Parts: sequence; C-alpha cells; structure tokens
Amino acid sequence: MLTDAANALYAARLAEIKANGLEKSELAMSTAQGARVDAAGRTGLLNLCANNYLGLANHPAMVAAAGAALTRWGFGLSSVRFICGTQDLHAQLEKRLATWLGVEDAILFSSCFDANGGLFETLLDEPDAVISDQLNHASIIDGVRLCKARRLRYRNRDLADLEAQLTASADARVRLVATDGVFSMDGTYADLAGITALARRHGALVMVDDSHAVGFVGPAGRGTAAMQGVAEGVDLLTGTFGKALGGASGGYIAGRRVLIDLLRQRARPYLFSNSLAPSIAAATLVAIDLAESGEDLRSRVHRNAALFRAALTRHGFTPGGDAHPIVPVLLGDARLAKRMAEGLLRRGIYAVAFSFPVVPQGAARIRCQVSAAHEPADLEWAAAQFAAARDEARA
Ligand SMILES: *Cc1c(COP(=O)(O)O)cnc(C)c1O
Repeated sequence: MLTDAANALYAARLAEIKANGLEKSELAMSTAQGARVDAAGRTGLLNLCANNYLGLANHPAMVAAAGAALTRWGFGLSSVRFICGTQDLHAQLEKRLATWLGVEDAILFSSCFDANGGLFETLLDEPDAVISDQLNHASIIDGVRLCKARRLRYRNRDLADLEAQLTASADARVRLVATDGVFSMDGTYADLAGITALARRHGALVMVDDSHAVGFVGPAGRGTAAMQGVAEGVDLLTGTFGKALGGASGGYIAGRRVLIDLLRQRARPYLFSNSLAPSIAAATLVAIDLAESGEDLRSRVHRNAALFRAALTRHGFTPGGDAHPIVPVLLGDARLAKRMAEGLLRRGIYAVAFSFPVVPQGAARIRCQVSAAHEPADLEWAAAQFAAARDEARA
C-alpha cells in the first residue's frame, strides 16, 4: 500500500519539479500528425516539434500500405519472433533494410530503445569495454548500464578524448565505440570519419545510432556514415522507424552478419518482447522506398532547415547545430524557455521547451524540427513569431 510517508516523498519530488519549472506537460492533439495540427483547442498550429522529417507520418502511401496490410496480414501476432511472430513481411523488411543500408543483415525490434537495450549486453561482457559519447541518447546509456563491460565516456564529439579512452582500454578483449549519428538536442553530427579512423587504428568496433538521420541524411537517405563516406567503417547501425520512416514505431540493428546472428539468439528485448505489428512492417517497406528514391523530399527538408536557420538569425537568434533539420534555439533559463513556448502556442506555433533532465541544467532551449512537409513561407512567419514571443517573455 502507498503509505503516508511514501506518498509524501513522491508528492515532494513532484512539487520540486514544478517549482524548478521542469514540469513536462502533454498537449493532446485532435488531428493526425502533420505540418499543421489541432491541439489544446487551437486549430492549424504550425508543428515544429515532430520527428516527421520527410512528412511521411500521415503520407497517403503509408496509410494505404498499413491499411492493406491490416487486411492481408491481420492486426497483431500475439507472439515474439522465435515462437510464431515471424511473417514473410518481417523477413522481407530485414532484408530490405540491409540492402538499403548496404550492410550484411538486419534485425527488427519493437523500438530503437529496445534495440539499444539489447545490443550491449549481448555483445559485451566483463573482459570488454564500451566507449560512449557523453551526449548519447538515453537508450544507449541504459543499454550500456545493462552490460558488464568496462564503461568509458568521452566528451561530446571530442576525438582526442575518444583516443585517450581507446588507449586507456587497450587491454580489453573487445572495445566498442558507441555514438549517436546526430545528437538530438543539439542538431550536430558525429564525426564518423574521425571515429571510424580511430577505431580502425585501435581495433575497436563502431556502433552508430542513426535515429535522427536515417531516411533523410546522406545519399539515398542511408544516414550519417554514408553522408561522410565512411559507411564501411561502421560495424553496427541502430535506428528507429518512429521518426523519418513513418513515425509509428519499431527499430532495428543492422550490420555485420555474425553480430546480427548472435543478437537474434540472445538479445533480450528481441526474445522477450512482441513482434512488430504487420501493418507497421508493411508501411515501413513503403517508407524505405519513399526515402531511398526521395531526393525531392530530402532536398526539401534540408532547404527548409537552411531557410529557417537564416530567418531566425535575421531575427537576432543564434540557432545551434550543424546543417540538420534539428534547429535548437538556446535560451538557458528553463522558465524563460517555457514561457516562450507558451507564447508561441498563443501565436499558432507548436514548439516545445526542453529542460533538465533532457538537456543539462541551465541549457534550456526550444528545439525546432523542420520537415519536408513545411511551407517555406510558414517557416519565415514562424521565425518572426519567435522574435515576438521572445520579446514578450522577457518583458
Ligand atoms: C528517438 C531515438 C531513440 C528511440 O527510438 P524509439 O524507436 O522511439 O524507441 C533511440 N535513439 C535515438 C538516438 C533517438 O533519437
């Protein structure tokens, strides 16, 4: 039972979160995901906070593929893959992913969180070492926690520190360098050319979580390593179907066959969590087709991102990040960021303030994400609204 003492403990923690302006609220939308959505009683909000980079979340071809798959393959599998949860579709999607990404094999998970949750524990044990970028996604951090290998961290995108950690772990049996391809709060790319060169020199494996790149970065949307021309140097790719590739759910690990084969035998989220829904697997096959041949969609999202960055800069902001559709507007103070996001909502823009623990203390920001589905004129307008909301929030 919830004792008075326990109740008081949790109530005090909630009160502290509120008092520090760190409370996260959820706006319920009453429309499908898209460039414009209705939420919180407001209609036609310009949506600047979805991972819907290619605009596939409600794309007619995706909806049609998922609908047809419901009829052909049914709703769910009521099983994990190795019992009776594998349909032709799942095998087909794994093959398609591997061919598209230019790797030997791929394995599906219910989410990329699960993919990262199963990877490290399966491949690394006590004699091994994992060397992880300090800003890696929470799912990598949690996945690393589950394995018994020695854990080393290097400063975000700091190759000299990475080399120091590689040297410090030279006695390990297997070393694995783990990095996000794109750092989601900052919109910056990992230097995979530098990382793969170091890993080759030190005989270490490289794992890249490309969730914020797969489908819309690099030639044919193959991601960050392909963009930097070093796909060969990456042993393991993880990624999500929950962002650019339709935005429903599901994740994967792709890479060297021996690693994928072992993951299929031993990765706990694969063995003990349900098979991906057939409608998602079928629609994801279409998403890959759209992404692979989607030069127009890709150039639109990157053109839109450049335009939005330039417009924010004209309005006196210094948007962070590299040339990626994640455009963080750094504000520092969590309360200011929250007030500004509220002001933006009143002005017809859906953008979310991020504060601790999602970003470091004192580094609150409004993170914008540009989509191929956005109209350039709307992004120009949005930048002007940012300026107005900033002035309002500071007044
Ligand atoms: C979004 C994200 C995930 C989680 O993906 P899900 O499929 O939603 O679990 C994992 N890693 C990174 C880098 C992400 O951005």
